[in-house]
Amino acid sequence: FDPFPRPARPRIVTVANQKGGVGKTTTAVNVAAAMAMRGLRVTVVDLDPQGNASTALGIDHHASIPSVYDVLIEGRPLAEVARNVPDVPGLTCVPATIDLAGAEIELVSLVARESRLKRALAEAALPADYVFIDCPPSLGLLTVNALVAAEEVLIPIQCEYYALEGLGQLLRNIELVRAHLNPALRVSTVILTMYDGRTKLAAQVADDVRRYFKDLVLDTVIPRNVRISEAPSFGQTVMTYDPGSAGALCYLSAAREIAERAARAEGAPNDQSFSGTASA
Ligand code: ADP
Ligand code: MG
Repeated sequence: FDPFPRPARPRIVTVANQKGGVGKTTTAVNVAAAMAMRGLRVTVVDLDPQGNASTALGIDHHASIPSVYDVLIEGRPLAEVARNVPDVPGLTCVPATIDLAGAEIELVSLVARESRLKRALAEAALPADYVFIDCPPSLGLLTVNALVAAEEVLIPIQCEYYALEGLGQLLRNIELVRAHLNPALRVSTVILTMYDGRTKLAAQVADDVRRYFKDLVLDTVIPRNVRISEAPSFGQTVMTYDPGSAGALCYLSAAREIAERAARAEGAPNDQSFSGTASA
């Protein structure tokens, strides 16, 4: 196969959008799997109490499993709870259990509550080229931990009428975290998901998103594809469930774009990042 470029240092990417059901988890696990299948070492940190990323990667996450909860709340080393993803060499997952639902409250009274994930990742020094953090659909302390731990934000946007609503709030939060907690943070990537080419509306939303985020939007658009939605019930990503499907090919192409853009950006000073206040 044709390997993807390896970044000079690990890239930590938070997949965020406080809207539920826009394709955060699907994008995190499939881009991660595609990169691992092209020779990169990748970790997915499941930061959603629903544990959908853990499920999609075939990782057990019933309540007594050591998980990201133990890392955030008990200070357990992240490497101890990371699991190898079956059938995808090079891919590991830090699972989330339902305990994590309580962490949003428990974190409030802890020291350095916003930077516990960052610290855990730094101490773990994972042998990873990419770390993808899959966020819950909210802007609470779990998502703040993800934004503090990362340098990059990947925003999946579903091409439907309300897509841009609420994005302003996400961008303002990113800006707040950047100003106060993590100056390196930037939106590096926007991906259009669940695109239905038959509707005029989808095309209009895609145009609006491209006008607003410009080059940050991947050329690859993820179509609505039934194989993508079936894969999680088999504990698989679409990359292993049906590698020849349109969904798998598009996620492979999206992952390639992310890896190649990163490689190009390493050569040049970064002037592509999005900053400034949102008016989406
Ligand atoms: P989020 O993590 O933002 O809540 P998910 O990734 O879980 O969103 O996606 C929401 C639902 O849509 C899931 O059932 C998922 O399987 C399905 N889905 C996501 N992307 C696609 C797609 N491109 N085609 C068809 N179904 C999709
Ligand atoms: Mg999700």
